[in-house]
Amino acid sequence: MKTRFCRLSGGPEDEEIYREAGAIIREGGLVAFPTETVYGLGGNGLSGASSAKIYAAKGRPSDNPLILHIAGMEELPALVSDIPDAAKRLAEAFWPGPMTLIFRKSSLVPPETTGGLDTVAVRMPSHPAAQRFIRAAGVPIAAPSANLSGRPSPTTAKHVREDLDGRIDMILDGGPADIGLESTIIDVTEETPVILRPGYIGREALETLLGKVELDRAVFAEPAQGVKPKAPGMKYRHYAPKAEMTLVEGAFAAEAILKEAAASARAGRRTGILCSEETKDRYSPLAEELGAEGFSLKLFCAGRRSDPESIAHRLFGLLRQFDEDGIEVVWAESFDEGGIGTAVMNRLRKAAGYRIMRT
Ligand code: AMP
Ligand code: MG
Repeated sequence: MKTRFCRLSGGPEDEEIYREAGAIIREGGLVAFPTETVYGLGGNGLSGASSAKIYAAKGRPSDNPLILHIAGMEELPALVSDIPDAAKRLAEAFWPGPMTLIFRKSSLVPPETTGGLDTVAVRMPSHPAAQRFIRAAGVPIAAPSANLSGRPSPTTAKHVREDLDGRIDMILDGGPADIGLESTIIDVTEETPVILRPGYIGREALETLLGKVELDRAVFAEPAQGVKPKAPGMKYRHYAPKAEMTLVEGAFAAEAILKEAAASARAGRRTGILCSEETKDRYSPLAEELGAEGFSLKLFCAGRRSDPESIAHRLFGLLRQFDEDGIEVVWAESFDEGGIGTAVMNRLRKAAGYRIMRT
């Protein structure tokens, strides 16, 4: 299949592109589109056949449900069997935006879209291109992240192309995603709302609005502990670069990283350090020293610790960069939890396959 690549300008001249994208969806095809979190791979969410195509294009296990994307509140009632009070308040506060809510589904939503569950995930993205695309399609858009299963979620149209060129009908390029991490998923079907996947909207902000909000125990449990996550997708190996990545935690992380990175580089392995603006100068003399000896140590700066959003924004791009640069071993700093930091650490632990060194 030939994949059409369309760059969006943001102006009225994009109208024709949206019209074509909408027609592709109605005919059962697949279109990747930008959102404020990451790029999505969209199909007609009310068609079981379209959802089946999404799983096939991504190589995604079919028990891992998709998120339905809507453009306005008026689209919600048809998709769900009821709208709990907490959902109304959350939607009022955070939609359109980086938040996904789990509802009991209506009979309109096919089982393929929800991986056979009787619940459905719904999100209203704020990105203007996502909004225009959904409106042009005229149906709710089922969309997981637009990456091959197991790869980091795409934050640019180039990432989408790397993974899905030739496998889908169209890619809409709206520039880099603002946030860079997937939405916060909240289950509102229980008495107390439960965060199934941490994201940009942190637990603190949700508790300010709703009182008590729980975090699914599986979010920070290693798979070996056998806690079954409520979001089926959270059980899969994810985001992992080809490199063997170790997350180094604790007060003496920098010292440990210096020692371990020097050892891996001197053992002849292409080594990377994932660090921050505030700490990178601690490692650069070592990188120079090893370079002079003919070994390879490269620094990857994720962003500023003082600005966790900058780290979220760059993280997935860096995980892909490791592979592009042929890095074999990564020693990664860890970051403060709380707010979006909780989501950053959740993704990093998964990317490291739970290989964690505590100092
Ligand atoms: P992705 O957009 O690729 O990050 O994938 C969607 C995420 O939403 C996956 O982790 C799914 O497991 C989760 N999800 C979708 N529908 C449901 C649902 N009905 N209940 C729980 N989790 C869901
Ligand atoms: Mg995904």
